[in-house]
Amino acid sequence: MTDGPILDNHLHLDPVNGRGAEAAAEFARAGGTHLLVLNKPSWELVDSVDSVDAFREGFELTCGVVEEATEILDGRAWPVLGVHPALISRLVDDGYTPEEAREFMQAGLEVAAEFVADGPGLAIKSGRPHYDVDEAVWEASNAVMKHGFELAAETGCAIQLHTEGGEDMTQVATWAGERGLPAEQVVQHFSGGRVRGPIASVVGFEENLETAVETTEPFLMETDYLDDPDRPGAVLGPKTVPRRVTWLRDQGFENAVRTAHVETPARVYGIDTEATLEG
Ligand SMILES: [Zn+2]
Repeated sequence: MTDGPILDNHLHLDPVNGRGAEAAAEFARAGGTHLLVLNKPSWELVDSVDSVDAFREGFELTCGVVEEATEILDGRAWPVLGVHPALISRLVDDGYTPEEAREFMQAGLEVAAEFVADGPGLAIKSGRPHYDVDEAVWEASNAVMKHGFELAAETGCAIQLHTEGGEDMTQVATWAGERGLPAEQVVQHFSGGRVRGPIASVVGFEENLETAVETTEPFLMETDYLDDPDRPGAVLGPKTVPRRVTWLRDQGFENAVRTAHVETPARVYGIDTEATLEG
């Protein structure tokens, strides 16, 4: 096994349709110690998605599986809760106007922020579509994301973003800053290794990690494991981050391992992955 904490910054555990805590056990057997567990999109966990209670129900399920994962891990897990940016397209297809969809999604983010303020949520998640949408949907999505920045600033937490990708996210970081949220509390999920503005959460492919190490910027590592029985090979499995940590160490990148698993988590989320590791 490895020394020190190993954190997967973005993975899903689905206690309803997927493996749930068993995937956390696989991560732990590979040497992983800490997890940030994202709720699945609301439409995958609960049948009705047209009331804010559906968000609450999905968040409760995620918090439950996080408790189970914490029992298993030498470190612990935390929930990161939010509203999937693609929900807007589903709502518009169902007859919502973009404005109505914006209001509904913002209400969902407010529930997520409550889970952070009152516990056990660690951070919230928002973003905007990663595929082409019309102007009204794009504007509404940006408004949702900006509301997420306001909520994160008020709550004093970080926000993970699922966006169209790309390396220049300075505009988005500026929007966050204007709302009182520092750029280092904004995390770009599914990063290829380099991003300007937010902190990169780098998907665990070797070439991405090489890029991240070259930048010498703070970064996190993730799999975006989906825990979806219908898409078993989608993205990366739960063992990936521990394996890539071994790979980084073998190449002498011990400092980068410390950056991604101790220093950046402390800076972004205020969590201490060393103190929360059992001896
Ligand atoms: Zn994800």
